[in-house]
Amino acid sequence: MKRILILLVSFPMTFSVKAQDSTLDSIDPALKIYRASFPHINDLVHTKLNVRFDYTKSYMYGKAWITVHPHFYPTDSLSLDAKGMDIKTVSMNKENQQIPLKYNYDGSTLRIHLDKTYRYIENYTIYIDYTSRPNEVKAQGSAAITDAKGLYFINPLGTEKDKPTQIWTQGETESNSVWFPTIDKPDQKCTEEISMTVPAKYVTLSNGKLVSQVKNTDGTRTDNWKMDLPHSPYLFFMGVGDYAIVHDKYKGKEVNYYVEKEYASVAKRIFGLTPEMMAFYARILGFEYPWVKYSQMTARDYVSGAMENTTSTLHTDALQQDARQLTDGNKYEDYICHELFHQWFGDLVTTESWSNLTLNESFANFSETLWAEYKHGKDAGDATNFHDIEKYLADPKNPSKNLVRFYYRDREDMFDMVTYSKGGRILNMLRNYIGDSAFFKALNLYLVNFKFKNAEAHNLRMAFEQVTGQDLNWYWNQWYFGSGHPVFDISYSYDDAKKMAKVVIRQVQGTGKIFRIPMAIDVYEGGSKTRHKIWLENESDSFYFNYNKRPDLINVDGDKIILCQKEDHKTLDNFIYQYKHARLYLDRREAIDYCSEHQDEPAARALLTLALKDPYFELRSLTMNALDLDKPEIKTAVEPVLLDLAKNDPDRTVQGNAIGILGTFKKEEYKDLFLKKTTDSSYTVAGNALYALSAVDEPQAYQLAKEFYQHPAKGELNAAIVAVFIKEGDESNFDFIIDGFTKMPELSLEKVETFPQFAALTLKMQNTDQFKRAIDAIVKYRDALPSTEKGEISKLINENFLKPIGDRKEAAGLKDQAEYVRSKLN
Ligand SMILES: [Zn+2]
Repeated sequence: MKRILILLVSFPMTFSVKAQDSTLDSIDPALKIYRASFPHINDLVHTKLNVRFDYTKSYMYGKAWITVHPHFYPTDSLSLDAKGMDIKTVSMNKENQQIPLKYNYDGSTLRIHLDKTYRYIENYTIYIDYTSRPNEVKAQGSAAITDAKGLYFINPLGTEKDKPTQIWTQGETESNSVWFPTIDKPDQKCTEEISMTVPAKYVTLSNGKLVSQVKNTDGTRTDNWKMDLPHSPYLFFMGVGDYAIVHDKYKGKEVNYYVEKEYASVAKRIFGLTPEMMAFYARILGFEYPWVKYSQMTARDYVSGAMENTTSTLHTDALQQDARQLTDGNKYEDYICHELFHQWFGDLVTTESWSNLTLNESFANFSETLWAEYKHGKDAGDATNFHDIEKYLADPKNPSKNLVRFYYRDREDMFDMVTYSKGGRILNMLRNYIGDSAFFKALNLYLVNFKFKNAEAHNLRMAFEQVTGQDLNWYWNQWYFGSGHPVFDISYSYDDAKKMAKVVIRQVQGTGKIFRIPMAIDVYEGGSKTRHKIWLENESDSFYFNYNKRPDLINVDGDKIILCQKEDHKTLDNFIYQYKHARLYLDRREAIDYCSEHQDEPAARALLTLALKDPYFELRSLTMNALDLDKPEIKTAVEPVLLDLAKNDPDRTVQGNAIGILGTFKKEEYKDLFLKKTTDSSYTVAGNALYALSAVDEPQAYQLAKEFYQHPAKGELNAAIVAVFIKEGDESNFDFIIDGFTKMPELSLEKVETFPQFAALTLKMQNTDQFKRAIDAIVKYRDALPSTEKGEISKLINENFLKPIGDRKEAAGLKDQAEYVRSKLN
């Protein structure tokens, strides 16, 4: 599963280096429950389903044949998860006769009394006739899983304008038992076949192979899907809708993209790297893509980012970017490789329990680094690494959590940035420590040993130990079964008389836990680099290096690989040297950050001017945004460079960014450039240009915004249109503004960016009716967030926006408006 993280890192949040609090969660009684593996009494063997859908009631009528056998001990009963169903028949076929079986059903578990005691060598098949009622399922457990319907009917009656009718399922974690009775645990695996009867105008998607399609006389069609390799129930999938299927291929296997029809022409620009990704992963793993086909489908109103259902990935419809959006590159390439890598890590070898979710999600997260590095270069790979560290650090609760956790409030809580971002970095550090060839050989061994089975973190360790011949318990204990990360304080001193440098690395995390870290220290002297491999093992470690001439730079963590925070007491000259000679993404980024904070120094300013032409686009934008343009000497120095970037940068996001900054100069002479760029094919460039234009010629920008508004504009252009309307400050534009804001996809970056402006406008609004509509739009945004994001973001929106708006309205004597806001605070 892929969470939508962009929001979490985009909202302003503060996080300062402080002692990691390991007592944060210790008070919650739910955290005292040991989450044991689910006991195996019976094991699934095969699941056969016949289903048809009632769009009027949002029901599914199902017939299931569940084949199982006792796990080891003889048993005369079978418990199946079956959430919120109406159970009609439970029976068993005996000598060609259907024998009804006694059962108890409490709305979530179906307890069946078998006709006799079975032994583990005996398979038996239970037949169940049932109705699945996903909208009537009582939410179980915590608020985090209110979206656990399993089966979703989207616009089933066709009453919502501009929204297609779709059916799709979302099983992880244990929600597929809403639509078929099963043992809904990740450590069960079985083969399956599903017959879906649907209106003939729709297409279907499910796991495995489409073996036949039969037209029925009543305007329906029955599609028979067969999956003849075992996988876990949470990975079962059905999708139904009016999609275009765009065909692709990988080594003779079908690769299909299911998109809404208007996106058929761009489907290959969105998904077309899939075969190359399959080839890349198969090659590095030494393990061929294991399944019969690979399809990807988009979903409206999806409750997560994406889900790796075996052979049938489901993505949020945000992936459906139009040709102009794609001018900036596919913003969702990481989703595509993440879910694909799960086909090996998660689907082929599956976590034994949610406690070991790292075996699914850390790998999928790490695959984003592997792909970025392979396809877009070392900088791109390193950038994913750095951003994941940021995501992990963004939540101050994360450092107190173990990666493998047997105590958690709710299994959904396992899907956090410890499991994803930190887990991915732990794999990346391990790869660096043991080397690529040993790393991938161990992954291959792990896949070979556990294919079509389940594993826990120790199984992974043993594969690495077998390949490397080393004991790795220390690594697993520290990173998998432990919490936190090192916080370094690094200082340098030089004794020119003795010609000796001293580096002191102190671990100041203040948790009492001291990390054992292998790392490289590079000493740059007289134009050449000498690498020293060292170990950190103490609260304070000192290292001594001889020199002839005082080194230009001592670069601790030369590979910039360690998951850490640090205070690195280098000089400005060290950082400038680092930018020019160490050259990794993070080497350069650290130098840019340091120089950004020392813009009074001419040498720092010179470095920033140089970094505006950094080979990696993101660092060009980082530098640009860090410039202190209130300083005339900086403004004068960088203006020609910014102008060049605004005109010519090969990356459209950098171009757009430079245009946006030039706009703040409010110079008439740039007007023609802005005007010309408003028609750029990239929404980012056009949007920034429109907003920049509004700084030099507001009436013309307003006029253009009204023109552009007539065509469907997305992304930054839509955001700019809304922003120009807001800037115009005329409440008569309110309908445009609210419409533009509402039509931004809930989880899009432009909505995140526009949101504060929209909230600011809402605050100014006098007309109570319009004010309420604006508040409704904010509340709709807040409440449409998927459950995985909802908790944190809702709180931010309530506390940072809604509550202050209410307070200000109260203070202004607008009781009615204040009251309205308060009623929405839940
Ligand atoms: Zn995932």
